[in-house]
Amino acid sequence: MPSSFAKGNTKPNPGGPGDKYSGQGSKAASPEETTIRIASHLNHQTYFIGGIKVHFPFKPYPSQLGMMNHMIRALNTSKNTMIESPTGSGKSLALLCAALAWRRNYTTKNKQRVSNVRQAIRRYIKGGSLLPEADNKGQDKDAKAQVTSSEDTKPDVKMEIDSSAALTGGSILDKLAGDGHTDSTPALDIKPKIENSDITPDDRNNINNGDGDGDDDDDFVDATLKPKLSAAEKQSTGPEPIPGLPAPGSVAMDDPKHPKIHIDNTEILLIHALHDLAGTAEFIIQAAKTRMPPGMDQQDIDALIEFKENGSTESTPRIYFGSRTHRQVSQLVDELRLKSAYRLQTAVLGSRTQMCIHGEAIKTGSIDDACRKLIETDDCGPYRSHRKISGHPKVRFGGELEIWDIEDIVKLGKQQFACPYFAARELADNADLVFCPYNYILDPGVREAAGILLDGSIVILDEAHNVENAAREAGSVEITDNQLLILIGECQAMSKAGHIPETHQFVGQFAESLLTWLQEDFDDYEHQDFETLTAVWPRKGASIHDLLNQLAMTPAFTVRLQQAYSKLEDFIKEQRTIHADNQRMASGGALGKNGRGGELLDDIDSDSSHLSNISMRVVSSLLRVLKHLSHGGRYSSDYRVARIRRTAMTTEPLLANRKRKKSITPAAGTQEQVNTLAFWALNPGVVFSEIASQTRSIVLTSGTLSPLGSYASELQVDFASTLEANHVIDPSRFKAMSIMCGPAGTMLEAKYKTVDTMLFQDDVGASLCSIAASCPDGMLVFVSSYSLLNKLFMRWRTTKLMDRLEGCKRVFVEPQGGSKEAFEKLLNEYRNSLVENRVQGQPLERGAVMFAVYRGKVSEGIDFSDFFCRTVVNIGIPYPAFKDVKVTLKREYNDTMAKQQPRRQQQQQQPHSSTPGQQSSAALLNGSAWYEIQAFRATNQALGRCLRHKNDWGAIIMLESRFANEWNVNKLSKWVRSHMRVYSNFNRALADLDDFYRIRAAEDMAAHSPGDNLLATDSGHSADAVTTKLESSDSE
Ligand code: SF4
Repeated sequence: MPSSFAKGNTKPNPGGPGDKYSGQGSKAASPEETTIRIASHLNHQTYFIGGIKVHFPFKPYPSQLGMMNHMIRALNTSKNTMIESPTGSGKSLALLCAALAWRRNYTTKNKQRVSNVRQAIRRYIKGGSLLPEADNKGQDKDAKAQVTSSEDTKPDVKMEIDSSAALTGGSILDKLAGDGHTDSTPALDIKPKIENSDITPDDRNNINNGDGDGDDDDDFVDATLKPKLSAAEKQSTGPEPIPGLPAPGSVAMDDPKHPKIHIDNTEILLIHALHDLAGTAEFIIQAAKTRMPPGMDQQDIDALIEFKENGSTESTPRIYFGSRTHRQVSQLVDELRLKSAYRLQTAVLGSRTQMCIHGEAIKTGSIDDACRKLIETDDCGPYRSHRKISGHPKVRFGGELEIWDIEDIVKLGKQQFACPYFAARELADNADLVFCPYNYILDPGVREAAGILLDGSIVILDEAHNVENAAREAGSVEITDNQLLILIGECQAMSKAGHIPETHQFVGQFAESLLTWLQEDFDDYEHQDFETLTAVWPRKGASIHDLLNQLAMTPAFTVRLQQAYSKLEDFIKEQRTIHADNQRMASGGALGKNGRGGELLDDIDSDSSHLSNISMRVVSSLLRVLKHLSHGGRYSSDYRVARIRRTAMTTEPLLANRKRKKSITPAAGTQEQVNTLAFWALNPGVVFSEIASQTRSIVLTSGTLSPLGSYASELQVDFASTLEANHVIDPSRFKAMSIMCGPAGTMLEAKYKTVDTMLFQDDVGASLCSIAASCPDGMLVFVSSYSLLNKLFMRWRTTKLMDRLEGCKRVFVEPQGGSKEAFEKLLNEYRNSLVENRVQGQPLERGAVMFAVYRGKVSEGIDFSDFFCRTVVNIGIPYPAFKDVKVTLKREYNDTMAKQQPRRQQQQQQPHSSTPGQQSSAALLNGSAWYEIQAFRATNQALGRCLRHKNDWGAIIMLESRFANEWNVNKLSKWVRSHMRVYSNFNRALADLDDFYRIRAAEDMAAHSPGDNLLATDSGHSADAVTTKLESSDSE
């Protein structure tokens, strides 16, 4: 049953509800003509949200309605927004449906807007006047209407169209000016011809060849055919000549080879006018200020004004939907495919590791390198036929796999013996919705390599709680001596082979001098830890620019490096083209063995004919950072430069050391020295603001964005609105507690000094034992570090408290380091122990407890729904390592930058100030505030491990007295802080907890009918066989 919700947006927007040009009185484009189809076989209901029709598979939760409304309003106004909504609230589906509904609506309305504008222009030209009559003849003498009628004053110019072109009937205008027309130049062989002309031989001498350049266009045409405009007007108002089409009134000589179709000059004028809608609209608006042009009315002018003001693009924004990991991306694809009714052209970007189907390449363990070599030597059959996938009807719009995921395309690739990796990239080029891990969007290097163009697009980043750190990482560059040595070697080889030797020598010599500096001894290193020495600039009166000058990285050098890099790029393209030509000749086929002709692929690499991708990336990343740092560079104060020397254990010799020691067979476990030059971006806005400047809207969303206030300041982007949605779980289904003291009355405050005391360790242990004894099934305990975990365990073993704990629960500990597989195994053992512990839907006496650290493997991306976790216990507040050099630098940076802000802005910087619409990129948090936020964000992330869906239930316990303080509670996610209850007496807290568990367990029992699968979880997952599959990023 359709319902109406939040028709709040009254501002006229393109395609928005207040858009008065949205179809009234004119023919609306049918939804079927838009780029998004509604799948009829899926049950869905229709809701009007923010004035837009949204198809949703079931009755939305109030929080889902809120999110959809919020998102639609942001998209309507081309603003950025943040949405925090707890896990299990259906956030992803709501955001997908809202975004796709908006896009569908935008396409429909935008087509109508463009159609209205086209009709207005058509009426204007057909009406016979191209300029208003000048009121002031003196002033407007040059601009006076000189084209007043395309019929009675023009020469009889006709358009000739090569009949071999795909124009088979109707007016060319119908083809070019129709609703489906885009701004691309029509691929028609069009030549103009003069028939029955009054044009003199002099006129013919001025015939323009249609390239549209120069004044000849104006000179040739009968003065009445084109308005004479000032240079500025020409730039800003008149339609530009269209490449491949003659300028209005221009002609070319006949080509007797082809039969012709004739169109008259009015149509040429229209084609040109319609080619540049924005320019022509502006021109007519100005003309109408003097007098309403014949054939037009105010509605036409209004349509032109609206079009000019609200954007002149004819294309619908592409949506990039990113999440943290590939597994999370897969979940998004499933939401779209299985639950949403929207169907459109989609693509998923992934890595070769996930998509390669070449058996030998997979076996090498370095698929990227192997792939590049196989392509270079034309030895990858799947690569040669990758277009079998990208052109396959199954993955096209309307096909069986129109919404596909990586495993689908890999399966299809195996069937077709075609490379899924390159097919995916090609499909992404034409997709309306592209899914990818969000580092593909954040990292400028990865973005470029993946061919992602953000212009005018909508970027939605799910699981965005790490975006701030990820953006800072993406803006940073670290170059090791090993990378420099590879670059030097390649440059020497290229130079020796005579390949643009000066350029390769220039780059190679620079790399050599940098390597020499990096490897020489340095007296001013400081110990960061046992294995790491660091020196940071600015230091002791030496600025970063002093260092760059010392390294000869001056602004002039940056210019030279840019020139060299451009030459290297050109050279690589040239080499690849030559290579492709050689292959073509060798195979004797038109397209060559690899079937791609001369197409350039930036992933192709070669050891012999040009610099490798690794080396090119060293140069390009250095170049990028030098531009930021150059004098006057926008971000010159946002970086710190570090020289780092690490001693690392390695099983393989580093190239740099191999050369130095002339050894190629080191024993396993050899100590190696690694020197690194680091450019650390302390401001995530370095990369994020660039993204924001290109996109239409950015939507950040996560279950744990709180505190929201820091995002705008840190990312240097204005978020016009924020939303903190409530949990969909009924408050009676969870308990949020802050327990100040242990059973022995010790104040539980896990600070640096107190965690070493026996009183603290013993009473924390006693508290955990009591909670573990009361809590059914699974339980997670988070502490701030592995070292604290070790201390606690050591003490508890000594006091035998561990025996007590193990009597209540089987104890698991998240490993520090270790392989992904080992962690997977541990996780599965934990889960299976809980499955085995259940009989007839009820837990036996022992459940399991998993000890983990904040920001560790367990704290992010792993689902502990239902009986896999009925309690999360948080010990302490996980502030980042105070002495970590990057943390110290970041704090100092924020302090410095915050001081430079006006006092008024500093007042906005309270970590929890998240007033909608008030976020300012300038209101940077000071160092302490930033530091605090990192701690509470990690806390929020950990406590979100349980309570994963509407029917879930569990307890969240802060075993930390500082959460008696409202200041700290207010930094937790909204759904927790609003229900937090503080206990100063442990026994009282435990009694309440017992009651909660008992009531919930009883209701669980009552909810299961005798025939139920008593091992099934409430989220619908069978717990019979628990297997967790992690991907590498999950286990980081
Ligand atoms: S082209 Fe594709 S199939 Fe061939 S090696 Fe590369 S990723 Fe693998």
